[in-house]
Parts: sequence; C-alpha cells; structure tokens
Amino acid sequence: PRDPAQAQDEIELAVEGALRPASLAEFVGQHKVRAQMQLLLEAAAMQDRPADHILLSGPPGLGKTTLAMIVAHESGRPLRLSSGPAIQHAGDLAALLSSLTPGEVLFIDEIHRMARSAEEMLYLAMEDFRIDIMVGKGAGATSIPLDLAPFTLVGATTRAGLLPNPLRDRFGFTAHLEYYEPDELEKVVERSATMLGVGVPAHARAEIARRSRGTPRIANRLLRRVRDYALVHGGADRASTGPRGGPTATQADVNAALELYDVDRIGLDRLDRAVLDALVHRFRGGPVGLSTLAVSVGEEGETIESVVEPYLVRIGFMGRTPRGRIATPDAYAHLGARHPESVLG
Ligand code: ADP
Repeated sequence: PRDPAQAQDEIELAVEGALRPASLAEFVGQHKVRAQMQLLLEAAAMQDRPADHILLSGPPGLGKTTLAMIVAHESGRPLRLSSGPAIQHAGDLAALLSSLTPGEVLFIDEIHRMARSAEEMLYLAMEDFRIDIMVGKGAGATSIPLDLAPFTLVGATTRAGLLPNPLRDRFGFTAHLEYYEPDELEKVVERSATMLGVGVPAHARAEIARRSRGTPRIANRLLRRVRDYALVHGGADRASTGPRGGPTATQADVNAALELYDVDRIGLDRLDRAVLDALVHRFRGGPVGLSTLAVSVGEEGETIESVVEPYLVRIGFMGRTPRGRIATPDAYAHLGARHPESVLG
C-alpha cells in the first residue's frame, strides 16, 4: 500500500514536469541570462563541443532545473540528474562521472551540499576531464588516473556564497536567477493554464501572479489549486467552459482558493508570516540572529535563509544588519502592528 500523500506528491511532480518549457524561447523572463546562455550554447554547437560548465544560483522554483533540461535539449545531448546530498563520498562522484557518455549534460542540484572530498575530485574533472582514484590505504595507497568523457556540468544552488571559490571559479558561466516580475508570472500562468485546460481571465491571472512570491513554481501550484476550486465550486454551467473542456476560473475563485491555502493578499504563506510575526512581536523588530529566528518558528535555518528571507528582503519587509535581522516599517504595517518609531513621532 502506498502512502496517499506521497502518491499525491508524485502526481504533483509529474504535473510540474509537464509544465516545464523545453526551449529557451519558451522560458519566460530572465532575459539577460537567456541571451547569455543562448550565446554559450550556439558557440559550443558551432564547434561541436560540449558547452562550458554552468552555475545557476537563486531561490527554489525560479527555473534552475528547467534551464539544465533546456541546455541538454537545445544541444541535443542526454541529461543526467543528481544532487549534492546524493554525493556523500568521492566514490559516489567517481561512479557518476565515469559513467557519463561523451557530451552528456550532468545536472547537480544543491551542489553546495556535496561532500568535501567529492568537491576536490570535481575540480580536476571539470578542468581536465580526468579524476584520480585512490586505491589502497596508508603507505601502500596509490592513485590511478582515469580519463573521463567530456561533459557539461550544470550546478544549481540556492546559496552561491556557500561554494568554495576554487569550485565557483571552474564554471565558465555563472548566473543568478532573480525573482520574476508580476507580468512575467502572468505569462507563466497563461501558458500553464492552456496546458492544464483551465480558463483564467486576465484579472484572475494578474491576481495569481501578484500572489506567487515572484516564483514560477508557486504560480503553477496556485493555478492548479484555483483550477480545483473552479471545478468544484463553479457549478455545471462553468465546469466545461475553459480550453479543452476544462473549467473557467473567476477572480472570486482565485481569492477563495488562495485564502483556503493560507496565501495572503501579497502572496506571503504561513511560514513567511510566522517569521515576520516572530520578528515583530517576539523580538520587537530585531535585530535578531537568523538561527534564533529559525528556532522560534520551528524551521531549519537553511530554509529561512534560502527560501523565506530572500523574498522578505526583496519586498522590503526585512533588513539585514551586522547585528542580525530587523523588521521594517512596511512589515509592521502588513501585520497591522505599530512601528516603535511611529509611537515617538
Ligand atoms: P528550481 O530548479 O530553480 O527549483 P524548476 O526549474 O524546477 O526550479 O522550476 C519549477 C517550476 O516552475 C517548473 O514547473 C517550471 O516549469 C516552472 N518554471 C520555472 N521557471 C520558468 C520560466 N522562466 N518560464 C516558465 N516556467 C518556469
């Protein structure tokens, strides 16, 4: 018997996969990164060689995996997917690298979480397509050099700052993905709505885009929940008025569905609000250390730092100071709390 929650997760992953753009032309936004990657790929294709190694950084859900898939797809090369946490020993990496076919694209997600010993092996592999395999122990240990097929490494990380410099320096191209603008997210929603067979009028699309935390993955997820809502609550007359016989959603559906899933009117979710609430009320606006803040909301420091904080800083709700994180007047206003300085003024 399968865990129904896990089965649901797998379905969601499959749906997410189906919504992935397969080419740079279909990839919405990130104009600069797209142009840079286009050049990289075209030059490599002209010389019939694998493209330079690529490092993509930025918060989750902004398209790093999608871009890795596009690199493979556009250059007509196979793709191998792995992740930092799966590479716990140099041997894991050696096995992976030595099994690559010539020109293969190797994607390593969360590359900052790879084992140290593997990192060092990767330096040489990236530079010279060669690794040294250690055999034996102690005084009798020797290293055997092994040539690798040339490959393109695409590394992804939510925290580029955590990568050691020698590793970062070996990428020929490094891009940081930024949060998307609402009009770009509207395009993501429009494209996905067609694929999912749900009608979403312009104002409803804009509402979803506004409440997606600048993140395409969230936009797609909210769209699916809005589709569900329209399907269940829209009644028989609206159930099949969308594209390909699906439902049509209204702005009221959007509002009701997002309220049900605890997404507030500017797109903050429960965890975002818990962090803001702790910052404003428990720590009186800060400054407070990130790990203290994380413990107080019962979350991993890494999640707060790579998922929650970047967005709150981006919308001007949280500030970083040498002494810790602080809440801005806008954060107080959003929670309906009074900022200490306004008491004096
Ligand atoms: P990451 O690897 O950065 O966590 P993904 O590449 O897995 O993010 O993207 C998450 C979802 O968002 C995917 O379903 C993908 O289709 C969608 N997505 C991400 N970026 C874009 C984009 N620029 N245009 C259209 N869809 C996107």
